[in-house]
Amino acid sequence: MNLDPANIKCVILTHGHADHVGGAKYLQDTFKPHVMLSAADWDMIENNQNFRGPKPVRDMAVVDGQKLTLGDETITLFVTPGHTPGGLSLLIPVKDGGTTHIWRRCGEARVCSSAPTSTTRALDGSATSPRKPVPT
Ligand SMILES: [Zn+2]
Repeated sequence: MNLDPANIKCVILTHGHADHVGGAKYLQDTFKPHVMLSAADWDMIENNQNFRGPKPVRDMAVVDGQKLTLGDETITLFVTPGHTPGGLSLLIPVKDGGTTHIWRRCGEARVCSSAPTSTTRALDGSATSPRKPVPT
């Protein structure tokens, strides 16, 4: 893809389990991007004496509904506790030809199947996109 990791501006960690945080410390130390995670999951990492792997240094704490503009696109981050105290879900505009769709990334699968709330309605791609990628 011819991408230079020195150009990474931020790393969004969807939650603070070691298997999802794995390389963040390396990226942080090597390329100096901002590392984003909810405050609750920063706390979880810092207080976990049994954390496996290197811990990134606390940087940006995401708040519910926070917008992040990357180039000409703005993504929205939601704090969706469940899998961890402060897991994140994201709405990401993606382009298909000239049409913009909203891709959702549910950090906690139960959020997407629970009773509608303002957050889950925002994460429900049916209102904003004809495409509904399967949550992973
Ligand atoms: Zn996990």
